[in-house]
Amino acid sequence: MGFNDEEIKKLLEAGRIARIVREEAARTAKPGMKLLELAEFIEGRIRELGGEPAFPANLSINEVAAHYTPAINDELVIPDDAVLKIDLGVHVDGYIADTAVTVSFNPLYEGLLEASRKALENALETVKPGIRVSEVGKVIEDTIKSMGYKPIKNLTGHSIGRWLIHSGKSIPNYHDRLARWRLEEGVYAIEPFATDGAGFVSEGNIVTIYSLLPLHKGRYTRKELIVYKKIWSERRTLPFTERWYRDLFETVEGLRNTLKLMMNHRLVHGYPILIERGRGMVAQFEHTFIIHNGEVIVTTK
Ligand code: MN
Ligand code: MN
Repeated sequence: MGFNDEEIKKLLEAGRIARIVREEAARTAKPGMKLLELAEFIEGRIRELGGEPAFPANLSINEVAAHYTPAINDELVIPDDAVLKIDLGVHVDGYIADTAVTVSFNPLYEGLLEASRKALENALETVKPGIRVSEVGKVIEDTIKSMGYKPIKNLTGHSIGRWLIHSGKSIPNYHDRLARWRLEEGVYAIEPFATDGAGFVSEGNIVTIYSLLPLHKGRYTRKELIVYKKIWSERRTLPFTERWYRDLFETVEGLRNTLKLMMNHRLVHGYPILIERGRGMVAQFEHTFIIHNGEVIVTTK
């Protein structure tokens, strides 16, 4: 494929905004703070800086590894002693940066954070054009294990496309010998998850993040089509939260019922929260990088 100057500029700008907001969010998060307040801060800052959220701010606590964003009127607060994953995405005209940081309010988990942070650092030192992603996964696994923890095997890094947060290729967090494809010109995210639990996540039964599925023939209510058109025009298939579409409805219940209907009609996909299977603590760090003209550029650093 190959990127032109305009595309590189937008990818770098998305990365710059993502880095700033990640750092601000990590400093802002404190026990007792509402997750809703932190999510609105993150998404608001992304927009102030000239980007758009590529997905709702993911704020996942302790054994929840990913995919929780606060709902409308969400009352959850950051617990004392929490291990909080802040995972945020920025897009500029569809060009995406995806980055995450973990903050711990419990000193017991400093080592866990360090394992994930170091795995990301070592993985980024390893990546280069032509390398097999199984090699990257091996570096991540070896780093995390050497520090006494496990990587989460069924969460992965990924290739990124324009308007696509996951464009089809996965970068394993362990030495997956079946992951034989090689890095080439493109955009990628690496995100090692470390845990003291089982090393796998399972889906929970809370869904607060959604994305549109391709429009297909069927009988839909007028409201479904209004919502679909609005979200498609703004985001295509990038993930969204109910919080961003409150104004389309008179009541929160009306909004939620329509989203439920759209899931039943396969117009909307819901992402359940992902919970560590052994109820272990989970840490995650993530950066986005570009491979362009044989060079690696980390956009979110
Ligand atoms: Mn992410
Ligand atoms: Mn990611």
